[in-house]
Amino acid sequence: MTGPAASDRALAAPRCPICMSPDVASPQIHRDRRRGLPGDWSFWECANCTLFFQYPMPTLVELQDYYAGYTGVVGSSDGLSIGSRYDMLRRLYHRISGDVDPRDFIPVTPGLRILDYGCGAAPYLHYFRSRGALVHGAEIEPSVVRSHRASGLDVALIENPETIPFPDGAFDIVYLMQVIEHVPAPHHLLREVRRILQPSGEVYLAMPNARSIWRRRFGADWVVGWFAPFHLFVFSLRSIRALAAANGFAVVRWWSSTPESWFRLNLHARLHPENNLLGDAATTWLDTWPPRVLLGAALRLRELFARERDCLVVRLRKC
Ligand SMILES: [Zn+2]
Repeated sequence: MTGPAASDRALAAPRCPICMSPDVASPQIHRDRRRGLPGDWSFWECANCTLFFQYPMPTLVELQDYYAGYTGVVGSSDGLSIGSRYDMLRRLYHRISGDVDPRDFIPVTPGLRILDYGCGAAPYLHYFRSRGALVHGAEIEPSVVRSHRASGLDVALIENPETIPFPDGAFDIVYLMQVIEHVPAPHHLLREVRRILQPSGEVYLAMPNARSIWRRRFGADWVVGWFAPFHLFVFSLRSIRALAAANGFAVVRWWSSTPESWFRLNLHARLHPENNLLGDAATTWLDTWPPRVLLGAALRLRELFARERDCLVVRLRKC
């Protein structure tokens, strides 16, 4: 398996794929620091909406090839975890760790229809169901879908990335946690999300934040080589606003948070510049509990007056 050498392809400056501006800065080259996938990937920055995006983008066949060699077997989460039983404890822990968890901010009422798009191991579906919501998931990997169905979850297979496999107006809330940055056609996806939402329905998106104060500090080591080539887009609030406005949504709330787990990856990448297998690296002292809690607390203090942290969360309303 070889990655596409950027130099093998035409590198005429592209237009921004979100706001269509031709005002795009020269590319930065990134490598896969997590699993050492060979290849160089070019990220360009839009001067208008501040989006970072990969160009040329891997083809669908290349992406499928990369994912097949990358993802391990994902099982279904089995019932309620400790984090789902004790809301207060979980929220308190996340205040320190900086973790972004939809159980902390999606208000659930009995009968609410929720879709977790790109649900992966679906760690939150049991929780929302236990609170009376009517929950569905959607996932592209057939073995993961089979595993969820065997555990009683209603998870649809995404057979065609152009279509979300649910009827019009089927949901009150859709959430995509660390998903939209992987999607090759975000305009199309948001139009599909709009279609399956009821009037005034809402969508929550969480993703790496191109305007994070830590991106400037860590450069190519940030979010472990920016998770090239899998992250096709690194959004900012401005680029999300452009995406939302073009597809019939309004931003009703946004915030950002730096999970200490992300920050540890940034540190590992900076401390071990020769290591491109950081996703498989052995646990070090930095990954044990006392340093993690201290790091979380230090981050919260350092970021007290920062507005732009590593993980951007936006709440959009269909209009
Ligand atoms: Zn743009």
